[in-house]
Amino acid sequence: MTDPNTTIIEGRRADTGRRIRLVANGGFVALMEETESPGQAAAGPDELWIAPGFVDLQINGYGGEDINLTGADMHQRVETVKRLVRAVLASGTTSFCPTVITASFEQMKDCMTAVRLACEQDELTASAVAGIHMEGPYISGENGPRGAHPAEHVRDPDWAEFSAWQEASGDRIRLVTLAPERPGAAEFIRKLTEAGVVASIGHTAADHDHIAAAVEAGARMSTHLGNGAHPQLPRHPHYIWSQLAEDRLAASVICDGHHLHFSVVNVMHKVKGETLLLVSDAVHLAGLPPGTYRTHVGGEVELLPSGRLHMVDNPNLLAGSAVSLADCVGRFAQMTGSPLATAVAMATDRPARLLGCAGIGTLEIGQAADVVTFRWNAEAGKLDVQAVYKRGRLVGPERRGEIVPRT
Ligand SMILES: [Zn+2]
Repeated sequence: MTDPNTTIIEGRRADTGRRIRLVANGGFVALMEETESPGQAAAGPDELWIAPGFVDLQINGYGGEDINLTGADMHQRVETVKRLVRAVLASGTTSFCPTVITASFEQMKDCMTAVRLACEQDELTASAVAGIHMEGPYISGENGPRGAHPAEHVRDPDWAEFSAWQEASGDRIRLVTLAPERPGAAEFIRKLTEAGVVASIGHTAADHDHIAAAVEAGARMSTHLGNGAHPQLPRHPHYIWSQLAEDRLAASVICDGHHLHFSVVNVMHKVKGETLLLVSDAVHLAGLPPGTYRTHVGGEVELLPSGRLHMVDNPNLLAGSAVSLADCVGRFAQMTGSPLATAVAMATDRPARLLGCAGIGTLEIGQAADVVTFRWNAEAGKLDVQAVYKRGRLVGPERRGEIVPRT
């Protein structure tokens, strides 16, 4: 019998290592049964792995689509969000936080409005957007910590301004990255926490006391720890030590092989343990073929086959991250020698729990059938996505050789 609402996915679970058959019905996991017979061979290079779809707390753009685009009317913005969702889904990430960065009040409001309208108009967008990550504008103005955020729009926390953005988004802002040294930051963090919004420390030049005060006020995460920082720091104390030392702070890292040296990733992994999680922080050129591109923010950039994105004028300067979260999972496992299960949890269950999103990030009966299958080359640190399902529906990638047909 053919049931168009039913999808069958087979593979070896990345968490348990057991081979399963997963049956999705009406968009949810209806059945999972083990298909392994005793004495079956261990996982080989051709093994098809199965995991929950990835959950990325930080995506600025992907596949040429930019959430922070400027000079566009609302129709163009809304369509951009919808295309971005489809590009991100095809990469293996089934839930994510579109990330709105530092800009004028109007520009940020337009970005928030566009996400709300796209969610209201398009079911797939609504199911993929786990919440908006607002990164800035309440961040450090210093060169280094400020990163690529425009200096003229960096400012102190303002609850009335934030409330206007939150309203424009339809209450979708779930995560706010800010600098605790900004006047009023502790009070602002307290209000965010009361409103159920996760406050995260990032793009900061804070001293230890400001970080401690932010944590007391409710801050729960460090945003891309180790990046958005000064090129040189005093040996101690400084804001990276302070955040590493604080057990109440989870931390996200950009593990693309370019933003952090593997020794740093290893230390953060050892210190943060189960509260370390992966983000791509992808910019709009992520997912595009290698080559030279002209960007609207500043000159020519080059995207290498390795996923490194740098300025053509100054190759030492990274121009953002150009990888998918699936790539980060592979690189993290390779860099730290962690089991695949750990790396996958850092991009599924952990971010979903931090954001308080029930029903995503794990494989369980009754959960949304957001599933990714992939091949795994541990030596190369390469995770090769084979099929992506959102609510049981095939949404990527282009290459479909290994998909079990719908029955
Ligand atoms: Zn950033």
